[in-house]
Amino acid sequence: VCSLKKSGTINPDYSRIRIHSFKGVDIPVSCRMCLDPKPCIGACPGSDPIKPVGSILHKDDDTGAILVDVAKCIAKECKNECSRACLARAITFHPNENYPLICDLCGGDPECVKECPENCLEFIAGPADYLYPKYYAYPPEKLSEFLKDSIYYYRGREEEK
Ligand code: SF4
Ligand code: SF4
Ligand code: SF4
Repeated sequence: VCSLKKSGTINPDYSRIRIHSFKGVDIPVSCRMCLDPKPCIGACPGSDPIKPVGSILHKDDDTGAILVDVAKCIAKECKNECSRACLARAITFHPNENYPLICDLCGGDPECVKECPENCLEFIAGPADYLYPKYYAYPPEKLSEFLKDSIYYYRGREEEK
């Protein structure tokens, strides 16, 4: 649904949310709205967190999402610095046009949240650091470790009863 909404095509390669699988646990990965200073903006040679106007990457004042000025992006020259700086591995690249695909929260009305058939996704407005500081920008395999441990710990406790 993300690729359809954002790129008008049904193709996971265009999606801003990707599934990473580790040790039997699937993790949906999209931008985690890092605290300021955001690593992706800091790494981009054409972005200045102090001067968002004119920057290739800048934060949407309303939603906190990262917005990309695709016309200015110089991905070929910069060797995808924003993606390399993103600990969450939430930045992928447009398969044909080579600019970063970053979740923009659909402007504050996330389509993926509305369409998830299992209601696994939840949109919680507000700074991520207030909500889940423990999980802030961990890479997906680390998150799957946490989940795996908590699931098996929980199941173990249930079986003890
Ligand atoms: S998760 Fe990645 S793309 Fe999102 S703000 Fe953090 S560094 Fe940037
Ligand atoms: S790929 Fe584009 S947005 Fe990312 S660091 Fe390079 S110039 Fe900046
Ligand atoms: S909120 Fe929108 S842009 Fe972000 S992952 Fe979901 S559908 Fe894609």
